[in-house]
Amino acid sequence: MIIETQISKYYLWTVGCQMNKADSEKLAAGFDRIGLKATDRMERADLVVVNTCSVRQHAEDRAYSKLGRVRELKQARPGLKVAVMGCMVGLKTDDLHKRFPQVDVFARPQQYEPIMELVEGKAEDLGGEFWPSTYAIPEGPTAYVPVVHGCNKFCTYCIVPYRRGREKSRPLDEVVREVAYLALHGVREVTLLGQTVEAYGHDLAEQPDLGDLMRELSAIDRLDRIRFLTSYPKDMTHRILQAVTELPKVMECFSLPVQAGSDAVLDSMRRGYSVAEYLEKIAEVRALMPNAGITTDIIVGYPGETDADFMATCDILRELRFDKVHVAAYSPRPGTIAFKKMEDDVPATVKAARLHAVEELEEGISQEINDRYVGTVQQILIEGVRNEQPFGRTRTGKLVHLDLPARIGTLVDVSIERAGPFSLRGAVRDSVVLV
Ligand code: SF4
Repeated sequence: MIIETQISKYYLWTVGCQMNKADSEKLAAGFDRIGLKATDRMERADLVVVNTCSVRQHAEDRAYSKLGRVRELKQARPGLKVAVMGCMVGLKTDDLHKRFPQVDVFARPQQYEPIMELVEGKAEDLGGEFWPSTYAIPEGPTAYVPVVHGCNKFCTYCIVPYRRGREKSRPLDEVVREVAYLALHGVREVTLLGQTVEAYGHDLAEQPDLGDLMRELSAIDRLDRIRFLTSYPKDMTHRILQAVTELPKVMECFSLPVQAGSDAVLDSMRRGYSVAEYLEKIAEVRALMPNAGITTDIIVGYPGETDADFMATCDILRELRFDKVHVAAYSPRPGTIAFKKMEDDVPATVKAARLHAVEELEEGISQEINDRYVGTVQQILIEGVRNEQPFGRTRTGKLVHLDLPARIGTLVDVSIERAGPFSLRGAVRDSVVLV
């Protein structure tokens, strides 16, 4: 489908989470279907799209800085079309509009139509099946596939439910079609995405769960691996865990945020589970898959977090020994319950010290866990090459760098020879060429 338009080249810039990246890839695939070409030089584009994130201040600052550059460009070339999409839209539209009147259109996450209308070929011309059958063009052997959008949980610090709306699952057959397409075009591993990915399916008529989806996807030829993130403890049912255990293509790799190790802080965050319930969930995962890789997220310096609360968080890290911890210092985000109702009362110096303490503690734990991989043989999917060295991941999600060449998109058996806290290094023993 080629649409008559003055626009021939677009520049698409993205910041934020995998969901945002997936939205951008889908938009790019839509542009591709109507005959637009991508450029990585903003100066050469007829259309600039800035896909924003408001989860952290740093991401917002980057978007503002990018829009400052766009403003200069549009002053020099008034015919340039500019669209802003993503999580800053809605919450910050007025502010953005005031600061950047050069923006032609604002679009919320996954709201592609207003942007397509800018391209002058009207969005309604594209037909109702246009977006469901528009797939991101794979650029390598791994791909992210959103399966459930939005979130119903309303944690007090989080803006996602307000920006991305309530949980909405994609029909199972639509996801299967997309993954089959990706596999046909060289993708060997898909990561199923959701803010709370185990919520998949509860809003669909047949109420399939994530396990049912993974079963269907497992039947796709040429697809070798299936991952999923991000997990939410209360949605992670035994039935889903059973499917992860039984299906050979599903990786033993979990991203299960705990956020804090104190019930008082979890309550204040409205995470919907207690420390004891979280411990039970991890115990269940490890009983079924003793070698599973498990990462978590922690927020330090939440309003009201005492020294004792923080020590409880450190205790849980020592007890559960996660493969990796993503730690962030709390910063109030406008529009959230915490921003409206809680005092940001932990001093910045204390937050920084707690953040550093978690990083230091976790570095030691990750090193010890990774040391246990040395001398083992791990199956790696070669995802790419950096500094002339191939890299890929184990089934448990560990990043592995290789010293010798290996073809992208191949599954290789690797002898792990060295370990650092953040990655492993190894040599290929054997390879199975898949393409
Ligand atoms: S579960 Fe909580 S933190 Fe995660 S997206 Fe939903 S509201 Fe945000």
